Amino acid sequence: MAGGLAVTQSAKRGLKVIEGFVAFGAGYMLAIAFAEVLPEAIERGGSSAAVFVLLGYLLVHLSQHTLTPHFHFGEETHRVSHSAGVSALIGLLLHTFFDGVAIASGFLVSTELGLLLFIAIFLHKLPEGVTISSIQIAGGSTPMRALGSAAMLGAATVIGVLATDYIGFLTEHGLALSAGVTIYVGASNLVPEFQGKRGWTLPAVFFGGAGTFFATKWALQALGLH
Ligand SMILES: [Zn+2]
Ligand SMILES: [Zn+2]
Repeated sequence: MAGGLAVTQSAKRGLKVIEGFVAFGAGYMLAIAFAEVLPEAIERGGSSAAVFVLLGYLLVHLSQHTLTPHFHFGEETHRVSHSAGVSALIGLLLHTFFDGVAIASGFLVSTELGLLLFIAIFLHKLPEGVTISSIQIAGGSTPMRALGSAAMLGAATVIGVLATDYIGFLTEHGLALSAGVTIYVGASNLVPEFQGKRGWTLPAVFFGGAGTFFATKWALQALGLH
């Protein structure tokens, strides 16, 4: 909702900071997906877990870019049709549901992995709020409805956390699915938002995000949360 507010209040400086969150979150998410979630999922589910990783990746593409006429991460700056806004919301609801599944699946492995995944998801929640609110406004919705959409994404994340405990399929394959979802969000949603921009700042923030993942992991281990 904070991301949504930055759009509806047209807070230019806030949006600039959130652009940094996109790059930082991308680095952090890719680091945790490749270095932590992927090996953990394969250790638990064997090589068949790899198929669920792929499934998670494909599922996000299906919901965000196949059934959706127009969607990309970051602030929407041109006019889009109303239906583009609605389908972007549906696609992002599925994505945010799996954000919640990822957090819960992490905690099922260890407190450390749960906390690391929580940070990874938290980092791209501001850009997520910006994305959905701006596409709603670009599609002609009122600021109130734009904020409401951001709130729905937050709620879907919490529902994903709760559902993981009750749906056997998610309890079993949630970790592998969220590895695929996290790789998609990092590599295919967030990275394309800044890879065309010149200069060293955003790449430095991106690499810094990946480095920070290892720093937080060591910090949590030092705190004995391993
Ligand atoms: Zn656009
Ligand atoms: Zn997300």
